[in-house]
Amino acid sequence: MLLKKNDKITKNYDVVVVGSGLAGMTAANKLAMDGRSVLLLEAHNKLGGFATWFRRPASEGERHIFDISLHGFPYGMVKTCRRYWSKEIAACIERVPKIRFINPQFDIETDFTKEDYIGILVEKFGLDKDYVLGFFKELREMNFYDDSAQKNQDLFERYFKGRNDVVRFLLEPMAYANGSTLEDEAITFGIVFSNFMNKGAYIFRGGTDKLIGMMKDELLKNGVDIKLQTKVDKILIEDTKAVGVKIGDTTVHSRTVVSNSSLHGTIFSLCGKENFSPNFMEKAQKVRINTSSCQVFMGLKEGESIPHIGELIFYSDTKNFNTEDLLSPKAESQTFSIYYPEMRPELPQKYAIVSSINARYEDWVNLSKEEYEERKQYLIENAIKTFEKIVPGIREKIDYVTASSPLTVEKYTHHHFGSSFGTKFEGLEVSKEITNEVQGLYHSGSVGIIMSGWLGAANYGVIQAHELNLYLDSNTTKEDLHV
Ligand SMILES: Cc1cc2nc3c(=O)[nH]c(=O)nc-3n(C[C@H](O)[C@H](O)[C@H](O)COP(=O)(O)OP(=O)(O)OC[C@H]3O[C@@H](n4cnc5c(N)ncnc54)[C@H](O)[C@@H]3O)c2cc1C
Repeated sequence: MLLKKNDKITKNYDVVVVGSGLAGMTAANKLAMDGRSVLLLEAHNKLGGFATWFRRPASEGERHIFDISLHGFPYGMVKTCRRYWSKEIAACIERVPKIRFINPQFDIETDFTKEDYIGILVEKFGLDKDYVLGFFKELREMNFYDDSAQKNQDLFERYFKGRNDVVRFLLEPMAYANGSTLEDEAITFGIVFSNFMNKGAYIFRGGTDKLIGMMKDELLKNGVDIKLQTKVDKILIEDTKAVGVKIGDTTVHSRTVVSNSSLHGTIFSLCGKENFSPNFMEKAQKVRINTSSCQVFMGLKEGESIPHIGELIFYSDTKNFNTEDLLSPKAESQTFSIYYPEMRPELPQKYAIVSSINARYEDWVNLSKEEYEERKQYLIENAIKTFEKIVPGIREKIDYVTASSPLTVEKYTHHHFGSSFGTKFEGLEVSKEITNEVQGLYHSGSVGIIMSGWLGAANYGVIQAHELNLYLDSNTTKEDLHV
């Protein structure tokens, strides 16, 4: 049932899910399908978290619609959606046909599959095929329990010493996909890159609005109660057990809680340090937050078009590749996602271009109002100027343009420091250990790089729902069953 803003919640639930990102929604849906009574609470006025979109007026025709985080995810999302959502949702997932790299080192087109990548590394970069196969084999065999001491720079140094161009080709897409840097643990690159290399990058045909609409219908069909515009203030913990949540003066009782709020928000704000052991708190305090993002959204006038130049373009003017440069407010490197008419054929405004850059929260948070606006204008101008190099004359075709910053990310998702991709590697262990500290409390959301992105977040929702089911199964009393 979709509860209204002023509806009183009186029922006791098996599970309260705090936050409706892909992890929270997928956990809620699985638990409801497994027969649990579930309440899903979301602070924003729509479901989806980062899997979101917004509409803006157009000078003619209807409205522009922009996707925030629909640039590409691995094929595994098809299986996850088929199993834990519906066949219809899975059927809308389609391959991104053309991905391009344009930079001073190379101009390359790829379909982002392993075969294509290997071919390019051999033919265009002049590497030995067996050597490249050995590298891919090592990546494929990496898993979470491996030694995490090896960093990306060690891995690349070992295989491709002195080949900055090769490192750019391999790491740049991952740096945009989840904020990976050369200093990050190589297993995070290995696992996520191998996921993509499985069958290429995929997108949801119809846009994020359609996906989230279909997910909302599924949640309601499976009996999940949903309440939007409801920010949870506290997770209630009694005798080291999660027993519900507090929203203002209202208490909602439940046997378990899944928090899809950020890891830091969950531990430090929603629960409070008094509920955790000193050892755990020490570990939690050391978890590094991942980077944030800036985006520029450009909508074309009705009737205007651009040639088919690829769906995703990794563009850079920097001579050599360095993950630190990707964070520069000068934005010399950015990705362009291009949405063609086939994405939403029913709309009059058919073309949208979204430029994304990785960004540091600290470069934005202390600006005066004027400086902030100036920097946003710089981003906009820079995105248009750069895209003109790819499609000359684009400026005249643009009808609407706006930009977002790390502060926008923070405002809409409550993520500490506007983190777009959760936490660095160590966050995953801390997230999983929460339940050892507070029984019946599970965290599920972007952590550890591996569990971030659309696929990582959705899969983490499934994993935590499974753990929660085991807990409920072994802690069910006659009273819980209302016998
Ligand atoms: C610019 C950008 C581009 C991206 N591009 C891609 C891409 O192309 N492919 C890809 O796979 N991934 C991409 N991602 C990453 C991906 O979108 C996220 O990793 C994923 O969607 C995060 O899901 P999540 O479940 O962790 O929750 P989130 O999306 O972070 O959602 C958490 C939800 O919890 C709610 N919430 C928090 N606290 C409370 C509270 N106290 N009470 C109630 N509600 C609360 C928030 O409002 C939010 O809705 C991108 C991210 C960004 C920012």
